[in-house]
Amino acid sequence: MNEFMEAQVRLSWQEARDSYDVVIIGGGGHGLATAYYLATRYGITNVAVVERGYIGSGNSGRNTTVIRANYGLPESVAFYQRSLELYRGLEAETDRWLMHNEMGLFWMTHTETGVRQEKMRAKLNTAMGAITDFVTPEEIHAMCPEIDLEGGGRYPVLGASYHPQGATARHDRVVWALAEGAMRHGVAVLQHRTVTGITMVGDRVTGVQTDHGPIGAGVIVSCVAGQSTLIADMVGLRLPIRSHPLQAFVTNHYQRTFNHIVASVDLATYVSQTARGEMLIGAEIDRQPSYSYQSSFDFLQSTAAKASMFLPFLKDLRILRQWGGVCDMSPDSSPVMGTTGIDGFYISTGWGTWGFKAIPAGGESMAELVATGETPDLIKPFRLSRFADDRVLADAGSSGTQQ
Ligand SMILES: Cc1cc2nc3c(=O)[nH]c(=O)nc-3n(C[C@H](O)[C@H](O)[C@H](O)COP(=O)(O)OP(=O)(O)OC[C@H]3O[C@@H](n4cnc5c(N)ncnc54)[C@H](O)[C@@H]3O)c2cc1C
Repeated sequence: MNEFMEAQVRLSWQEARDSYDVVIIGGGGHGLATAYYLATRYGITNVAVVERGYIGSGNSGRNTTVIRANYGLPESVAFYQRSLELYRGLEAETDRWLMHNEMGLFWMTHTETGVRQEKMRAKLNTAMGAITDFVTPEEIHAMCPEIDLEGGGRYPVLGASYHPQGATARHDRVVWALAEGAMRHGVAVLQHRTVTGITMVGDRVTGVQTDHGPIGAGVIVSCVAGQSTLIADMVGLRLPIRSHPLQAFVTNHYQRTFNHIVASVDLATYVSQTARGEMLIGAEIDRQPSYSYQSSFDFLQSTAAKASMFLPFLKDLRILRQWGGVCDMSPDSSPVMGTTGIDGFYISTGWGTWGFKAIPAGGESMAELVATGETPDLIKPFRLSRFADDRVLADAGSSGTQQ
């Protein structure tokens, strides 16, 4: 955060107390949203968010900021549509300009099977309240003439599902607005403090060990994205999560306004324009599981080639910056939220490459669970026990990556 933003956003830092009713591990979007909704919806403010770096230093400050609800299963569409609606009202609710911009999203396909899938997606989404239309190549051209319908001669565009409410929002502003809102109600956000262990009495959690000493907790919520298995291990819980790097990059300024998000399902590559005019490009995860934040030339080369096939103007731009994050990939490409079988220990994980859009609904749902002790209907399908019950929510085709 620069000095200008520090003057705009009123973050009130507190000294750590000995214990809190709720300790949330991870000051990313999901941890802060859980704290924000606990405070604003339920008046629960004896809460600490413990963050090992600075808020938003994880994936919430590293993503490509796409917000959409065009998923492939009824349970997922309902959840992400709730989040999309909360995002639409978040600027007014927090009184902060989050640079939320509904640009519309093309989810393009290059195969006949893909055309059938996108037609089905459009019908399912619309039935569940997430407006999506199937559009032909001619309609795509009329709305976004920059797209090369020949796909560089190798990946002809056969159609797309078009999701007009697809949006972007400035990721760090979302983090700061939620932190500010939670802090205003008395929530403590403790930066530069790493959770190193979890204390238990019998089957119940009682607090966290940190590199600055212990903190007692009535309830612990783990919201640590790519580090989820490490925190779960502290209570002897094995999660079906693997950590994979995901990279992205931006080009220099493109002089024209490109007011769409364009994704190729088959090439697992997507492009939008930032408010600064840079073209922002993301793609699939690195295949090798790792905790590495290092970005690679291989990624740049292959992703730039794929993106240029459907948006040839990109070939004239230069790459300015690249970076990476570490994603918590679930086996079915759906999130994992709720209880764990360990008394007082809740998790919000499995956000993989798709969790920025889920921040408001994820936080709202986890707050309801903590406050009431009841799992909200919206997130019951995403429970951890679904893997043991053989009730997985396989939706890899909606994730924007390939596992
Ligand atoms: C390159 C990239 C592009 C992406 N693009 C999109 C997109 O366009 N749309 C979308 O919906 N999603 C996208 N995602 C995914 C999305 O960013 C994440 O799913 C989401 O931000 C996860 O939020 P979180 O709060 O769970 O985790 P994070 O934001 O990662 O926060 C977790 C926090 O926990 C902290 N932490 C970890 N261990 C400890 C510890 N032991 N003690 C204390 N603190 C700890 C970390 O420092 C971190 O700040 C992308 C991700 C990446 C990397």
